Amino acid sequence: MLLPSRSWSTWALWLLGLAGLCAAMVPGRGTLDRAHVALLLLLVVLGGSAAGGRALGVALAVVAFLAFNFFFLPPYHTLVVANPLDWLVLLVFLITGVVAAQLLDHAQSEASAARRRAAEVDRLAALGAETLGAGRADEALTAVTRVIRTALNVAECDVYLLDVGTGSLRRAAPERAGDAEAPGVARWVAEHRQAAAELPDGTVRMAAGAGSSALGPLLEQSASARALLVPLAVRERTVGVLRLAKPDGIALDPAQRRFLDALAYYAALGAERVRLSAEAERVEALREADRLKDALLASVSHDLRTPLTTIRALAHDIAAGGEERALVIEEEALRLNRFVADLLDLSRLSAGGVPLDVELNVAEDLAGAALQRVSGLANGREIRASLDAAEPLLAGRFDFAQSLRILVNLLENALKYAPPDTPIELTVRREGGDLAFAVADRGPGIPPGERTRIFEPFYRPLDARPDVGSAGLGLAIARGLAAAQGGDVTYEPRDGGGSMFMLRLPAADITDAQHAMEG
Ligand code: ADP
Repeated sequence: MLLPSRSWSTWALWLLGLAGLCAAMVPGRGTLDRAHVALLLLLVVLGGSAAGGRALGVALAVVAFLAFNFFFLPPYHTLVVANPLDWLVLLVFLITGVVAAQLLDHAQSEASAARRRAAEVDRLAALGAETLGAGRADEALTAVTRVIRTALNVAECDVYLLDVGTGSLRRAAPERAGDAEAPGVARWVAEHRQAAAELPDGTVRMAAGAGSSALGPLLEQSASARALLVPLAVRERTVGVLRLAKPDGIALDPAQRRFLDALAYYAALGAERVRLSAEAERVEALREADRLKDALLASVSHDLRTPLTTIRALAHDIAAGGEERALVIEEEALRLNRFVADLLDLSRLSAGGVPLDVELNVAEDLAGAALQRVSGLANGREIRASLDAAEPLLAGRFDFAQSLRILVNLLENALKYAPPDTPIELTVRREGGDLAFAVADRGPGIPPGERTRIFEPFYRPLDARPDVGSAGLGLAIARGLAAAQGGDVTYEPRDGGGSMFMLRLPAADITDAQHAMEG
């Protein structure tokens, strides 16, 4: 057994001490009782085991046993024992010395294990405080890596964050310069959720699992790993990779490996916090951009209305004087005015600021008003209207003027997009808690890929006819207005070709309606 130099000097010191004690006692051995000698020698054995551990304690016990026999039991300077009872004294002395050395060593190793565990708990508590105390998510992660670096005594500690969307793995909060892109082995570790060790010769060894128990055999086989990579996971989801590096090799004892597990979990929580806060920032930025857009839309459309009204009034006056081109100006100003009004409505709808007057209304009134409104556009085209005959009175709770606007828009679209020689149908019936107004045409219909997009503001298909003079706001406003009243506007392809747009509004019970009318 090779001992470090400090141990050699401890051994030499205690053996010398023992020799010194014997030398001091030899002149008075005739008067000293055996018990005195034995107790003094035992004192040296105990002192030696406390200072130098079990091996020194046992060695001192054996040497003291021999010295006791040689110097203090007659006949002196021989290992012969004259009185057979002295054998008993010697044996008891030897056993006491060895057992005391063992006990002392055991107690000491328990104390030092307890101290180590207390230090671990201390460091974990510090880590917890660092993680929770940091105001910003990336600062918390930096604090965690700092604690890991000092706790495990490594030169570098990096956390690579996995971006679930793009699958990229980049170093978080880079404190030091250098490539933020993760090395290939880190990507492997994230993908397979298995730890790995980089050896001094540049080769990589993969562990059989993710945790410290998997790293154990790996570290024992490969005497000194240059870097260790551990996958970071929160609730079964990989969030990144922890990489520890030390040029002269990382040696971790089982306790430190256990500790690494706890630390890796803190790092994983830190990584997850960074991801969540980045997401929250992105959502907040989008919301802010949306708010800005709405504010811009509202202010531009508002500011455009006054000059447009002036232009229309002037053009009207000039046209009255016989200038025909002024009529075109008036028409265009009117169209622009409608567009600006739509823009204003759209911005109000997204801000939830459209005033609504929801009350009990009869479906027949709404259908009748809508048909009358579009009769000018129909150009003699047939619009077949039918109300469900099974229901004596179809009624609902909705804002009459806004619902009229929706229905007129749907009918206008049908007139606009369906061929002139095809009929248009408007049917009204009750469907559960809804009043359903269906506007059906035999036009081209909407291709499957565009069926949700037609309800987005400003959406116009690529092959849209440029001459219809619209901006793709109609259906977005219609759906927004219906939703504000607890209803909806949807599209369905019509059996036999064409489109069917359905406006649903909350129905009211007939007795309610009768009550209101009677009252
Ligand atoms: P626009 O004011 O441009 O008509 P809308 O929001 O009302 O805007 O409609 C969006 C798009 O949906 C239109 O450009 C058109 O392509 C399509 N569309 C709407 N109604 C019909 C319909 N009845 N038949 C076919 N296509 C339609």
